Amino acid sequence: MRDKRKILTAVAAALVAICLLVTGIVISGYREGDAKAADQIKKSAKMAVKVKAEATGTEEATTPSIETPVEVQPATLEFTAKKKAIKAGKSYTFKVNLEGAVWKSSKTAVATVSSNGKVSAKKVGKTKITATVGTQSVSITIKVKPKKIIGIDAGHQRRANLSMEPVGPGSSQTKIKVSGGTSGRTTGVPEYVLTLDIAKKLKAILEDRGYQVVMTRTKHDVDISNKERALKLNEKCNIAVRLHADGADSSSAKGASMLYPGTDNPYVANLSAKSKKLSQKILDSYLASTGLSKRGQGLYVRNDLTGTNWSTIPVALIEMGFMTNASDDTYMQTKAGQKAMAEGIANGIDAYFGY
Ligand SMILES: [Zn+2]
Repeated sequence: MRDKRKILTAVAAALVAICLLVTGIVISGYREGDAKAADQIKKSAKMAVKVKAEATGTEEATTPSIETPVEVQPATLEFTAKKKAIKAGKSYTFKVNLEGAVWKSSKTAVATVSSNGKVSAKKVGKTKITATVGTQSVSITIKVKPKKIIGIDAGHQRRANLSMEPVGPGSSQTKIKVSGGTSGRTTGVPEYVLTLDIAKKLKAILEDRGYQVVMTRTKHDVDISNKERALKLNEKCNIAVRLHADGADSSSAKGASMLYPGTDNPYVANLSAKSKKLSQKILDSYLASTGLSKRGQGLYVRNDLTGTNWSTIPVALIEMGFMTNASDDTYMQTKAGQKAMAEGIANGIDAYFGY
């Protein structure tokens, strides 16, 4: 009996021991599994951060940072977007690092600035762009560059120069340096006065439109040959416009026309196509603006003009009207007429460049 109890006790003890052992194993196993799972979760989290970082394009994975209270102090006003030079006709939006800036341009004829900082360049020159926020201001002086450089030759001068010069590069053929030009049969105004009047008006209009202008002359008492005029405009101009007026024995001859180099020109055949296009654009705009008539076909090839043959840039010569015709001559001496003539030529230049 006693032995039986002993055996039972031993068996019971053994069972308890086994139970404990199994429980221990299970618990430790569970813990081990738990640790592994936690490890797995950590790895996944890292992966997720990395994936997010790659997706957002940030350079490295970042762990969420705890926001620290920022010390409150007024930031110094400064430009975050600015330019030192803008081409006329173009715009650029300036920016500062603070909200609510008030913008100002010191010369609004050169460039304007809108309430959101958009600077629109108008004409060649310099202007100071200022942004003000509260008591702080920042400013920068900007340069407006020309959209194109236009050469204008006011034909003739007070006194003709009858000495000779070659009609084109390498030519043995010569022509007088500057002829006297015609004059108004009704008004008595010489051609060289009319051409400079229109040249000055055209210059002002072109500059207002953002062009830079180079003039071969700004007064009557000069001595510049046709070759020299061409060479001067070749230096930095994009195109050359030569201003002249016609004269004829018959007072009935009237109207405007254009003279340009042909494809058979021995010196500047390469400029023919562009010169023709320039001539066509100027003539169309000129006729539309003035109401003057077109002489004949309007466009004429001329390969004998020294001032054209020495050109290295597209060149158009406009015969603005007949000074020997009463109606043309009178019109070309009116204020409204001259304004329309200059505007018409400017419109043609705009059209040539596609502005
Ligand atoms: Zn002339």
